[in-house]
Amino acid sequence: MRPPVAFPIREAHAHVASLGQTLAMPDLSSCLSVGECLELVRRESARLGEREPSWLRLHGARIEAWSDRRWPTRHELDAAAGARPCVMLSFDLHSGVANSAAMAGAGVRSQADAPAGGTVGLDRLGAPSGLLLEGAFWKVWSAAPEPGPVVRRRHVAAALRVLADLGYVEVHDLLSQAWLGPMLAEMDCAGELPLRVRLYPPLSEFEAAVAGSAGWERPRVVLSGAKVFHDGTLNSRSAWVLEPYRDPLPGEPNGRRLLTSHELDQAIERTRAAGLGLAVHAIGDAAVRAALDAWERHRVRRVRAGAFEESPGALRIEHAELIDGADVPRFAGLGVVCSAQPCHLLADVEALRRALPHRLDRVLPLRELIDSGCRPGELLWFGSDAPVVRADPGDSIRAATARRREGAACADAIAPEQSISEGEAWSCFRCAREVNNRA
Ligand SMILES: [Zn+2]
Repeated sequence: MRPPVAFPIREAHAHVASLGQTLAMPDLSSCLSVGECLELVRRESARLGEREPSWLRLHGARIEAWSDRRWPTRHELDAAAGARPCVMLSFDLHSGVANSAAMAGAGVRSQADAPAGGTVGLDRLGAPSGLLLEGAFWKVWSAAPEPGPVVRRRHVAAALRVLADLGYVEVHDLLSQAWLGPMLAEMDCAGELPLRVRLYPPLSEFEAAVAGSAGWERPRVVLSGAKVFHDGTLNSRSAWVLEPYRDPLPGEPNGRRLLTSHELDQAIERTRAAGLGLAVHAIGDAAVRAALDAWERHRVRRVRAGAFEESPGALRIEHAELIDGADVPRFAGLGVVCSAQPCHLLADVEALRRALPHRLDRVLPLRELIDSGCRPGELLWFGSDAPVVRADPGDSIRAATARRREGAACADAIAPEQSISEGEAWSCFRCAREVNNRA
């Protein structure tokens, strides 16, 4: 869908490099069963033949929509891909499954090999099932040989072209790689950058990015802040929620908190010391509340130190898929950006109904946010999280206004009382002045 609006629009949350990479990868999003998925693996593996790269990586698996609602096992993948390392990624980018060759290639043979916060799934016999969560998944996924700079640049160019064709004039890249800023600057010099890019590297690389940015920053390639993860996702029931899941992960009734209050405070201080912003991934209502609490503490510290008021938008909360009623007015009150992706509502319907049927009324309370003073485009931003879902703004417009999939009955809408008008929804894509500039 192209914007029927007179103002420039922005994609406020995407992953440019992985969007480009996945555009070149086999896509599992149209598979509807384990059988179809294994057939695609067989076909792709045969197509690759002996050619390099030898790894087969696939993306976009949404097993909630599969008739058998389960991942293929490691052994099933072994049978389909043979000795070729094969790994497939869930659409939500937080889990996936690998075959024996991929796990061996990555050195992940048991839970002991998983990074903190990662999980190696086990089968009934206690052997790795192939299912991998969070860090354990990424360790295996990133063991595949990285493309060289030429292929990388082709991937990035393809992603930016897709976004520009959708009408965006700006994209925010959340979790930017160290090489992305310099590459984009080169593309801009060559007249090959079709839209402005704002970068948010992981906090662990933030200071290095600030130091290096003098060499590549320019009006259309801007370092805007850092990104941290405060919780997991709803689909994997690792988003940190106030009320327990109906079907929680073992030992984690309320999901997973990934940062302590102290770590969050430090993340805010580090980014604000550089005059830049912090983007906090917080999907569950408990993670959202803790992020707002941290910002409140930061403001108190500033007042005590006699410093200026913070400008609105220096803290942005990514996703905020569940927000408790008590926290809604705090966004406008504290000047915190709610960076939402309503299009996920269309994808997450089944997971929400299964895991949080008692909290559906708190899903993306857009009406309440606007009514409490979060002005669209200023404190309420829309994006897609591509490649988690496609970047078409029309999906978020539809989700924000109808609160259900196309063709679904009115009764299937999630929290229909939170719907907003089409004009308000487009305004959430409006490219407004960015506050996180050091200028
Ligand atoms: Zn994201």
